[in-house]
Amino acid sequence: MERVQAVRGMNDILPDAVHWWQKVETTAREVLELYGYREIRTPLVEKLELFARSIGESTDIVEKEMYAFPDRKGQWLALRPEATASVVRAFIEHNLHADPLARKFYTIGPMFRHERPQKGRYRQFHQIDAEVFGIDDPLMDAEVMIMLCDFLQRLGLKDIGLHVNSLGCPECRPRFREKLKAFLQNRSPQLCPDCDRRRHVNPLRVFDCKVDRCREALTDAPELAQYLCEACRRHFDKVLEYLSDLHVAYAVDSRMVRGLDYYMRTTFEVITDRLGAQNAVGGGGRYDGLMRDLGGPDLPGIGFAIGMERLILLLQQKEAWVSKKPQVFIAVLGDEAVRQAFRLAQDLRAHGVAAELAHGGGSLKSQMRRADKLGVAHVVIVGEEELARGVVVVRHMVSKEQDQVPLENTVQFLMTVSTVGSL
Ligand code: ATP
Ligand code: MG
Repeated sequence: MERVQAVRGMNDILPDAVHWWQKVETTAREVLELYGYREIRTPLVEKLELFARSIGESTDIVEKEMYAFPDRKGQWLALRPEATASVVRAFIEHNLHADPLARKFYTIGPMFRHERPQKGRYRQFHQIDAEVFGIDDPLMDAEVMIMLCDFLQRLGLKDIGLHVNSLGCPECRPRFREKLKAFLQNRSPQLCPDCDRRRHVNPLRVFDCKVDRCREALTDAPELAQYLCEACRRHFDKVLEYLSDLHVAYAVDSRMVRGLDYYMRTTFEVITDRLGAQNAVGGGGRYDGLMRDLGGPDLPGIGFAIGMERLILLLQQKEAWVSKKPQVFIAVLGDEAVRQAFRLAQDLRAHGVAAELAHGGGSLKSQMRRADKLGVAHVVIVGEEELARGVVVVRHMVSKEQDQVPLENTVQFLMTVSTVGSL
């Protein structure tokens, strides 16, 4: 029979890998809540229009990467390619600006982009996403980046670089855009077909192109930093000052534009050289006009997203994981013994001891083989003969020593031996 396989670029996370995910999620929640973020969960599916209007019609995400489809009534929907737009939509829809606690949000979950699958790049991937609304103080830009670095440090990931830039604002960016357009016109023959088109519709996007000859064409391109207006300049200088105050290492990268149109002023990425072409572990920036453009109050915003798959690839390069094992295996001999063994297993679990019960009978020898494979510290042998005398046998798997323990004391006995770490 032909098998049905998973969709290309969409991965199962198997039990042997899932602990990495749990570790990353637990650490993320701890850090985020320490900085005052509260979790929000939004649907995986939104109206297509939400992403087209926020991320921008002429971005790669909207033009090429989105899973968009009409539903049965012909309404255009999309699987979310990122989280910011959804969180902003929810904030507006539920009037959350009226709630003084509702300023910092986080969400963790799958995103979808139709890209060419490769290491660190998938069609379903996961992000940890953080957003702050209503604060345009450059201190918040610094705090958001510092939190991101704090999180990476707590995971033990040290050699990740923080790249920072300012994209200016609607006041100063148009001037730069015109300069860049003129520059790109001269470079037109060198550009890839995509960039040759981008230079008309969205020239800043050319900086984001990964094609070598476009990168070369840009070596002496004008720099945004020289075109920032006074207010943007001051804002950016303050951000950098706050970062330096707290001894956070960063590099200003005036070519970094990010792949989404809603960004303005501060943008940043955390970059590694250990993942080949997929070198961005996370990124974000300020998006002060977005909430207003989506029909909400005119509140500034800033946020970032971290790619969990890339993070986990880095963690796996660094350390091996020792899987959790059951502590006790219960071997059973005879039908009557099964009922006692089942009760004992439940009793152990109720007391916090991870117990695995033998199923389906079989000889004691084969049950012991299974216990060996599971790597448990102790096996309890529940046999009818022993039960008749009110005892069970507890076998220590390393020393091979055996004790006869009264049935009613078994839990107590195992709790003592498994906490003294007699592995
Ligand atoms: P890239 O330049 O690698 O395509 P991006 O700029 O499109 O990344 P963002 O939209 O900023 O990425 O998303 C934030 C993070 O989400 C990225 O830094 C990355 O870790 C992760 N990410 C983005 N797209 C994918 C994907 N297709 N597969 C796995 N992770 C992804
Ligand atoms: Mg991308």
